Amino acid sequence: MASILPGLRRRPFGPILASVMCEKGIEAMSDDTRTRLVPAIQAARAGAASGGIPIGSALFIDGALVATGHNRRVQDGSVIHHAEMNCLENAGRLPAADYARATLVTTLSPCDMCTGAVLLYGIPRVVIGENRTFLGGEDLLRSRGVDVTVLDDPECVEMMTAFIATHPALWAEDIGENEPTP
Ligand SMILES: [Zn+2]
Repeated sequence: MASILPGLRRRPFGPILASVMCEKGIEAMSDDTRTRLVPAIQAARAGAASGGIPIGSALFIDGALVATGHNRRVQDGSVIHHAEMNCLENAGRLPAADYARATLVTTLSPCDMCTGAVLLYGIPRVVIGENRTFLGGEDLLRSRGVDVTVLDDPECVEMMTAFIATHPALWAEDIGENEPTP
């Protein structure tokens, strides 16, 4: 699963999505939206497996998987490579016309920094795995016309619940809060 992640850049057509994209209708769109969460979860798991915070992201353009990314605070000592930022970085420089056809998928509700990146580049759709463990800038995204879908995915909730319980200080650092007192 994780083997697709390193070096994954600008894959023009995601094989998993090809058949789904031929479907029409609300049910098919719902299935497609959930399908798009899969590579983001895979990225989150890969991040956790390398000792990091289990948040993953995936960027789709015209239904095709372009890049994935995961939080790299631990791995790189990075203060800006949240999953969404890492995914956008992995996608490389893109023209505005590409972002205008993009969907950014993230396993967790995007923080203010990542929300800002979505607004800056004019990404019109955001799919969120869950917002029970953290609620980011969803209202701001909606107020600016971004189509936001929250899947309330149990696997995403479980990943973050377990991580926050075992790494409260690291989690506080990632979202810019003070370390919780025991
Ligand atoms: Zn963020």
